[in-house]
Amino acid sequence: MSRRSGRFRRVFGRLFKERQIYHRSDGVVHFISMSTKTQVALAIVALSALLWVAYTSVNFVFDEQIEAAREIDYRNMETTFSKRLHDAQLAIDDVNALNHTIESEFAKSMREISLRHQMMENMVKRKARINDSLDILSEGLSEAGGPSGQKPTNGNRIMIDINPGEPTPRQSRLSTLKKEAALEAAQRSATAPKGSAAAAAIDRMKTAATELYTEQMLLIAALEERAQKKLDELHLVLESTGVSSDSVLIPAKISNTVLAQGGPFIDIESVSQTSSRFTQHANRAALVVDELAELEDVINSIPLSSPLTVSRRFTSGFGVRRDPINGRISAHHGIDFAAAWASPVTATASGSVKFAGTRSGWGRMVEIDHGNGFITRYAHLSRVSVKQGQKVELHDKVGELGSSGRSTGPHVHYEILFKGKPLNPRRFIEAGRYVFES
Ligand SMILES: [Zn+2]
Repeated sequence: MSRRSGRFRRVFGRLFKERQIYHRSDGVVHFISMSTKTQVALAIVALSALLWVAYTSVNFVFDEQIEAAREIDYRNMETTFSKRLHDAQLAIDDVNALNHTIESEFAKSMREISLRHQMMENMVKRKARINDSLDILSEGLSEAGGPSGQKPTNGNRIMIDINPGEPTPRQSRLSTLKKEAALEAAQRSATAPKGSAAAAAIDRMKTAATELYTEQMLLIAALEERAQKKLDELHLVLESTGVSSDSVLIPAKISNTVLAQGGPFIDIESVSQTSSRFTQHANRAALVVDELAELEDVINSIPLSSPLTVSRRFTSGFGVRRDPINGRISAHHGIDFAAAWASPVTATASGSVKFAGTRSGWGRMVEIDHGNGFITRYAHLSRVSVKQGQKVELHDKVGELGSSGRSTGPHVHYEILFKGKPLNPRRFIEAGRYVFES
């Protein structure tokens, strides 16, 4: 240790031995004496300056490189980020597009469903009004009962077998309707890419829509079926009076044009938007409901009741008979009912009073025009309770039973004229029973 420090001291002493620097100016020589200490201090200062310069130079060069590297990194990051942003935007666009597809499919389905619903609702309401009207008529006719006043009993209803030979087609019809609905649903082109979440959602929606569509088809078919059954019953009622349907019904059917041109059911634009098969079914149902409405109107104008709702006795029938006064064979154009004096004689259907007063042979009598060619007459009354032109409803009192005119005792002579021709009122009263007993 001491040997090594001794050698260092010797080298150090040789390097920094005391030096004099001579300097001559204007003939005068100056000298600066530099001690070892001073030389060491100057050397340290010089070395420090040199190190600082080296350090800053290196630092400067490296800084540039680091900055460049950072710049590259930043650019890379920026590129990656914008690429990801672009991908995300594409994904959002896809989702939006699919959402839009689902929404528009849903809106389309809902529109179709609600349009069909509206058509059905209109028809159901219309049929309900007809049913209500028929119920009122049925109740009224039930009140009067049969020709001799017999009331219906629940256990002894008259069953009208419309089509006795025809098998019930309900099951096969149901599957046909289901097939029709499925076929129509399949015909619609899929708008979402296959296998996507949207396609699955649309599929589920379509399945639900198809189920609803089938339900609606079945409902409209059921409506048509019930309306047709009622229509057949009313036709039977009408035919059983002896009046043919053709002679009272207007053959022109309005529903085809109503549905095609827009009318009470639905406008043309809606019809073209909604499914064609449903429209076909709805159109057929509408035809039946229209016909039913027309026939219901006719049935309401047909005198299907008895002129007496109180206890009465059927005394004389329609047709050729021996005259009760002169004994000669003559035609009896009506039927006679005997009952208590001053029993209320009532209108057998709604209408307006055509004649109210006294007529030779008839005594005090009332004549009612029911429209559609039907007129009824009530004769031999003790009192007339209505005035000419007065509107009457079924079972409104028109007079009181008596024996005025050519009569042998208290009774009411009752006649029905269709287009001026007398028909047998008994057939009408019997037919009336079909209305409330079917
Ligand atoms: Zn008579």
